[in-house]
Amino acid sequence: MTTTQGRAIAGLSAAARADLVALLGADAVLDEETSGREYGDPFTFAGWHDRRISATVLPETVADVQGVLRLAGRHGFPLWVVSQGRNNAYGGSAPRVPGSVLVSLRRMNRVLEVDEEHAVARVEPGVRFFDLYDHLRAGGHRLWSSAPDLGWGSVVGNALEHGVGYTVHGDHAARLCGLEVVLPDGEVVRTGMGAMEGNGTWNLHPRGFGPTFDGLFGQSNLGIVTKAGVWMMPEPEHYFSGSIRVPRREDLPALVDAVRPLLLSGVVQNPPAIGHPAFIAGLVPGAPSRSEVHSGPGPIPEAAVAALADRLDVGRWTMRFALYGTEPIVAARLDAVRAAVAAIDGARIDGTSFAGHEVHDLARDQNDQVQAGIPSLDLMKALDWYSGPAGGHLDFSVVAPLRGNEITRLHDLLDGLMDGSGLDFDNALILGRRYAINVMQLYFHPEDEATVSRVWELYPRLVRAAAAEGFALYRAHLDFMDVGAEQFDAHDHAQLRFNERLKDALDPTGVLAPGKQGVWPAAYRAG
Ligand code: ADP
Repeated sequence: MTTTQGRAIAGLSAAARADLVALLGADAVLDEETSGREYGDPFTFAGWHDRRISATVLPETVADVQGVLRLAGRHGFPLWVVSQGRNNAYGGSAPRVPGSVLVSLRRMNRVLEVDEEHAVARVEPGVRFFDLYDHLRAGGHRLWSSAPDLGWGSVVGNALEHGVGYTVHGDHAARLCGLEVVLPDGEVVRTGMGAMEGNGTWNLHPRGFGPTFDGLFGQSNLGIVTKAGVWMMPEPEHYFSGSIRVPRREDLPALVDAVRPLLLSGVVQNPPAIGHPAFIAGLVPGAPSRSEVHSGPGPIPEAAVAALADRLDVGRWTMRFALYGTEPIVAARLDAVRAAVAAIDGARIDGTSFAGHEVHDLARDQNDQVQAGIPSLDLMKALDWYSGPAGGHLDFSVVAPLRGNEITRLHDLLDGLMDGSGLDFDNALILGRRYAINVMQLYFHPEDEATVSRVWELYPRLVRAAAAEGFALYRAHLDFMDVGAEQFDAHDHAQLRFNERLKDALDPTGVLAPGKQGVWPAAYRAG
């Protein structure tokens, strides 16, 4: 392995700070204290100081971003970039290298264009899901943009980090079409058709002439994305927000196998999510609290989970899914869903139908909203249910084939690894057409150092054990990017060496996000 831990950086020199102020203005260069209050990682033990930011800069234009990168190269200070910086459970907006200057793109927050006919927008990276939603509503556009479970993040940042949402464009990285990127040396490139001046298909056709390199800028430290095309769906005439509840823990593989053909054939068009009763409890008014469900030590026992499922009438597993189309098309899709799960004893389908245009006024439930792309912050309540107000979690998120027996194998493995840890955890699954992302949330309160330490000690063991069984992280917290990258070991880690070669070629001074996803610039590898 060639990766090393990042060396500590003392901070920003007075000369470098003065140059940043001259470039951006004093109000766009926040000091360490203000940066620390506004940005950071809320989901870790607050007393751990190794996530210090020496300053935050707030560029407003592409030229500002170019200037910041050039100053970083000249003075040799490391940068960490966020759009909104809400990547919580994966490190928030904290940097990998202590003392980095945080580039926050919150002021680059314009929706530049909405092309109603092609259902596409071009946005700057500071645009939040809430902002795009409001913009579409205010403009009278009959378009639905996909949103993740929490709507306060950046449309672009979330997609670059491979986040997911729950409309037909729930694979957020896949719905980005056409990027403008500032490379570490300050040069601006456009991907795809945008590389031709004035080309009208930049945000419509996903490839260009020659190698397509949009993917190089996701989970990456090769450039700062300053504009992106974002695909949306036309408001459907009719929308069904549904759920399938299965009664027993062991029904999960049958549910997954029943749904796979529906996804492959396009009957179900969005990424369904399968949830655990305790996670749902946080969202149900009047549901019993965590201590009412289980007051003893350790995680909630299976019998108490089953009792909670009965009391809430939510099934041991609940899968939410959505159907879109004209009314008869949605009805036909629903018939196909019913037929697919008919063989699972006790499976129950519920749901609410909406005319597409009335969903904004009528949808109140988080499931109904998010599958129509309506952003909210309701899911915070699920977190509070486990770990109290201002509670935290770390997500262990791996990819599995979309087959029931594979999900069982993964869950058996995770149950074995979690046994004796005393930690609360639950598994949620987000289904793609051919894979499932299994998100195991590990809960703690950030002020409880002992529990946070236990979670941090356990996590790398989970990463290695899961990888040994063929399950890889799709995304990782800052502290576990190296161990995550190490698991990609084919041809003696050739993928990492390829990433390092790109890094060294594009960022020879190694200033942009050193260590992001385990890719360290040459100077750090030598150290
Ligand atoms: P969100 O607020 O949507 O959760 P963040 O702004 O925290 O997303 O970004 C998540 C991660 O994505 C960042 O840590 C960074 O690695 C990457 N990222 C975000 N915005 C950009 C960008 N404009 N250019 C390059 N990488 C970015």
